[in-house]
Amino acid sequence: MIKYRDMISFDRVSKVYADESVALDNVSFTIEPGEFVSIVGPSGAGKTTLLKLFLAEERPTEGSVLFDNVDVHTLDRKQINDFRRNVGMIFQDFRLLPDKTVYENIAFTMEVAGRTDEDIDTDVPYVLNLVDLASKAWNFPKELSGGEKQRVAIARALVNEPDVIIADEPTGNLDPVNTYDIVQILKKIHDLGTTVILTTHNKGIIDSLGKRVIALERGAVVRDDKSGKYYV
Ligand code: ADP
Repeated sequence: MIKYRDMISFDRVSKVYADESVALDNVSFTIEPGEFVSIVGPSGAGKTTLLKLFLAEERPTEGSVLFDNVDVHTLDRKQINDFRRNVGMIFQDFRLLPDKTVYENIAFTMEVAGRTDEDIDTDVPYVLNLVDLASKAWNFPKELSGGEKQRVAIARALVNEPDVIIADEPTGNLDPVNTYDIVQILKKIHDLGTTVILTTHNKGIIDSLGKRVIALERGAVVRDDKSGKYYV
């Protein structure tokens, strides 16, 4: 199913923290629905702050952050929760629930979102197949390799059909073979119509993707390149 909706727009956004660190300085860009964008930059460049501002976890000091033409910082708590449910998150450290099986980790996300038992029975196997992990459904996270754990995390991020997937350094803990697999899965998700935002330090990934790259340095966008090269 191709979805293509919900544009993301940062309009002259600055973020100055309470201790006066300038994390973002007048940042503007637009991400079209269905785009695959990598955000790169050295440590301290502002990548995490940018993601936090998008998820309304931090407020901008100036400027606006729009999703589907609505400023996310004008939403009330319930609206923010609904909005966040539209964004699937994937982290470097996987963040799986250790006492639940692979199946239960994914089912739990669906229960929290109020999905029916019928949906859970059909959608959990569907996403496990998508990440090629159906055979590990009844294993616990500690019984999985790093690459497998990340594939579970991706399945979990996908299962409620978000419009946007944010993968925050998803391959930071993985070897090259698993890194390659995770990038292939992210490409597949993108091909299915989901907007993908990837932060990474991995130059090889960026070069092989050949997709748009937004480069941050000291809180500013120093490059926004459609052809997808890292440069250093
Ligand atoms: P990155 O994710 O690219 O490493 P960050 O967004 O974490 O960058 O940080 C950008 C800048 O903002 C850094 O100088 C950092 O020290 C500062 N910063 C980040 N979070 C906070 C905070 N909660 N309070 C004060 N300064 C912060």
